[in-house]
Amino acid sequence: MSGLTEDATELLRKLVRFDTVNPPGDERAAQEHLAGVLSAAGFQCELLGAEPGRPNLVARLRPAHSEPADPGPTLCYLGHVDTVLADPREWSHDPWSGDVADGHVWGRGALDMKSQVAAEVAAAAALARSGWRPARGELLIVAVVDEETGGELGAEWITKNHPEKVRCDLLVNEGGGAVFEYGGRRRYGVCCAEKGVFRFTLTTEGVAGHASMPKMGENALLKMAPLLERLGKSQPAYELTAEPEAFLRGLGEDPADPAAALAHMQAADPRLVTVFEPMFGVTFTPTRIRASEKINVIPSRAELKVDCRVPPGLGEEQVRRGIAEVLKEDEKGSRVQFTERVVGNRSPIDTPLMQAIGEWVAEHDPGAEVVPVILPGFTDSRHFREAFPECVAYGFFPHRHQSLFETMPLIHGADERIDVRDLGFAAEFFRDMALRILG
Ligand SMILES: [Zn+2]
Repeated sequence: MSGLTEDATELLRKLVRFDTVNPPGDERAAQEHLAGVLSAAGFQCELLGAEPGRPNLVARLRPAHSEPADPGPTLCYLGHVDTVLADPREWSHDPWSGDVADGHVWGRGALDMKSQVAAEVAAAAALARSGWRPARGELLIVAVVDEETGGELGAEWITKNHPEKVRCDLLVNEGGGAVFEYGGRRRYGVCCAEKGVFRFTLTTEGVAGHASMPKMGENALLKMAPLLERLGKSQPAYELTAEPEAFLRGLGEDPADPAAALAHMQAADPRLVTVFEPMFGVTFTPTRIRASEKINVIPSRAELKVDCRVPPGLGEEQVRRGIAEVLKEDEKGSRVQFTERVVGNRSPIDTPLMQAIGEWVAEHDPGAEVVPVILPGFTDSRHFREAFPECVAYGFFPHRHQSLFETMPLIHGADERIDVRDLGFAAEFFRDMALRILG
């Protein structure tokens, strides 16, 4: 095991042992530990938070000379130290043990995302300890709290309350990097955009009546049946934005014919379709339904909640068109009301950072390529993109041994674990990127 792999592994094990399940989070001890590692290596560290038990860590490494000839960019490695909960009864290793077994570190956060934090901090600390300082620009490590419940005390809080402390030009965060194979080539997704949410409620109306007589009144719940059936059968038409177009070109497919591309992906591995099809347009997923409050009353009103995800660049107009398209004339008997409207966020695809990541991948996994991807969900990157519109933010944490299809079911699931070799692989990436960008 290389020194860097060992450092990242030990640090991850330590981080896993701090229980930071959010809520309540309680991240202070983990943050103090990270601050200790980075301070000892030469970083200037600050803990800043809205609540004493939940500080965010900002660690900065500046050039040795106070006035470098080239001011250079601020490169930020971002991560969150909170996790979702875990039920130990479902796990083969205790979720807070940090056990190393079968070549993996086991525990809640081993993928999402104490692993990336450990790789970022181990790489940055090793560089600083060796005496390296940026020749230009600055290296910033930001470990935030509270991501799993939306970032109100974490990324959102720090970008709003201390923007000058976390302002950056280039940002690497979670959201991409696990390898998958297509057309005989290995690909690494770089997450450069995240979908927005345009959640809505569909309401049907009827006339209440006594449930002992089914033909009494007019049952609003039954009017939902055709709507649900249509939602189960189809989605709005594909509407490809720049990212899925570049993604398809990267796979050697024709972006002008997404249906054909998906048929090829389906034939190669149906999981590719499950994971990547949502990038191609607006999606609807019905998740909650509510009708009568009483078992013996025919409902006069029923409500269906639909989780709708929208690629950046598209908005309410496309969603309304999608509703008309999917629900057809059945929609006329219902009302649509938007409950959340958050547009997606993105960074440009063709940038020197993308170039640098692509070259690193080609060097370390010969024959492999990077492709841009859209995350159907969202991460803390959105707060940084909003606060610093010029910042290029990507999600990238390279896994070479554990594939995308191996990691995905483990995130927020039981037996979350990371291949130790991937931890070292990622730590090397974070070390090399800092050297390459900051000199
Ligand atoms: Zn995460």
